[in-house]
Amino acid sequence: MARFTRETVDRVREAADIVEIVSAHTDLRRAGQRFTGLCPFHDERTPSFSVNPVDKLYYCFGCEASGDVFRFVEEKEGLSFRDAVEALAERYGVEPEREAEDPRAEAARKRRARLYEVLGRTAVYYASYLWESAKAEKARRYLQGRGLGEEVLREFAVGYAPSHWDHLVVRGQQAGFSIEELRAAGLVQPGQRGGDYSSFRNRITFPIRDARGRMIGFGARALSADAEPKYKNSREGELYRKSETLYGIDRARSEIAKSGRAIVVEGYTDVLALHQAGIREAVAIMGTAITPEQLKALSALSDAVVLALDADRSGADAMIRAQRVASGRGLELRVAAMPEDEDPAEMAQAGELERFREVVAGAIDLPTFRVRTSLARADLSSVAGRERALGEVAPVLAAMGEVVGRDELIREVADRIDTDPSLVSERVRRAEAEPAAGDGDGNGARAPVPLREELTPRERKERALLAMCIARPQEGQEYLDRLTPDHLSAAGAKALAWLRRHLEEPTSGLQGQDDELRSFITQLVMESDREPAEPGAMELNYMLLEQQRLEHGISAAQRAGDYERGARLSRERAELTDRIAHAQRLTA
Ligand SMILES: [Zn+2]
Repeated sequence: MARFTRETVDRVREAADIVEIVSAHTDLRRAGQRFTGLCPFHDERTPSFSVNPVDKLYYCFGCEASGDVFRFVEEKEGLSFRDAVEALAERYGVEPEREAEDPRAEAARKRRARLYEVLGRTAVYYASYLWESAKAEKARRYLQGRGLGEEVLREFAVGYAPSHWDHLVVRGQQAGFSIEELRAAGLVQPGQRGGDYSSFRNRITFPIRDARGRMIGFGARALSADAEPKYKNSREGELYRKSETLYGIDRARSEIAKSGRAIVVEGYTDVLALHQAGIREAVAIMGTAITPEQLKALSALSDAVVLALDADRSGADAMIRAQRVASGRGLELRVAAMPEDEDPAEMAQAGELERFREVVAGAIDLPTFRVRTSLARADLSSVAGRERALGEVAPVLAAMGEVVGRDELIREVADRIDTDPSLVSERVRRAEAEPAAGDGDGNGARAPVPLREELTPRERKERALLAMCIARPQEGQEYLDRLTPDHLSAAGAKALAWLRRHLEEPTSGLQGQDDELRSFITQLVMESDREPAEPGAMELNYMLLEQQRLEHGISAAQRAGDYERGARLSRERAELTDRIAHAQRLTA
């Protein structure tokens, strides 16, 4: 897809309200010109996260997470830069423009836009049919009987697909979409005797959207008891991929990020019932087992996933795969012990939401859950039964990796099957050595949040001076001219080159520059209104950097045996040291 124009990026930045955006993830309080709060990127008790609403920047003095409004959305909502620009453009009503793009990519993007549109219009049509047609009476009664109110049904655009076999073929073409587009969107399919028919008929329809709220397909439930299958989803195609899709993610996304956990359920009506009850971090998988792709999407938003579904139906292999993906990404995967034959929607309807909340709160980590289920089911009175149980739990323990709690679980297993823990450990080691049930995520480990590294004295001085240059651009320009890369660290030298050209608006056009520079400049801008920038302090910092430069020069001259140069630099240093002492007396 072609890049957004520079003007578009600037206009979106201008329109975006960074305080509102960050507030979805942490509570902010005004502190003078800026806002502060607990850092949404690392665990902390006292606020070290700061937001500058004018320049649309954020910076954490604890973990040094920093960036602009786009970076924040990229990080917290798991979007690419382009998607972040697009999402913010949409949210703040900016019409985005793109640079001329290559014709093939442009055609593909336009086609996808058409498919989103035809699906979106169909969802609107089905929703109005549900509420307005006499023929949808039974559907309305069914939904009401499930305890779902009009508000949540309208929020999720739940609808009803009429019974006539070609209703979409006709309406779709009238609206200007080709049969080919209707097929690609999964709305119609070719019949055996020629002609196309509507994919969904006589069914309650649940629009499925991607994380950005674009329509990608439908889930549809039959109303008559004998209709097969009971649930029918869009066929996999250009937009809808079952393994990557989470129903309700567009509505749940910000709440998941805010609460730090996602609740995963099985059915569309479970999601509706929970959202209706204010449990808005609920999403549904499109099958019985959570997939690595779904886990990756959730891990971009939160640190914990609670599975509130029939874990037995998920199958052992799928669970082990999920555990491995979760461990690799630092994601905590827990299982809620759902009562048998009861789903969240039924619990909500029976007025037992409190019990549901308790079950979720009492969720235990996935390996412990699987190990205990295996042991509970096994016949531990026979050698063969104990052997089978050990064979079942060893791969689960292996998939955990070396984490706190594994040894404890190994002891629990040893105790139950009445053997020595070292024997269980040995079996786990063997299971580790076996080829993994491929999850395609060999090195998906998420880098831990870096703790703030101690800065060297020179780095502190260069940051202070560069930040002051931003604070006082008039004097700043002069210091930027006097500074040379020899005065600075490698990162500082890069920042110097950037600031010489962008001193008036240091963050404008930073997009597309490398991460190190983006982060460095952002930090400087954030620090620039904290540093007391008066000319005396600027000169002092400059002299301290100059002193350091001379010292490096003197050692280099000595190493090279250039005594003449060494002596000259030493005289310069002595002179400078006097001036520094004088300046320090003045500023002290
Ligand atoms: Zn932080």
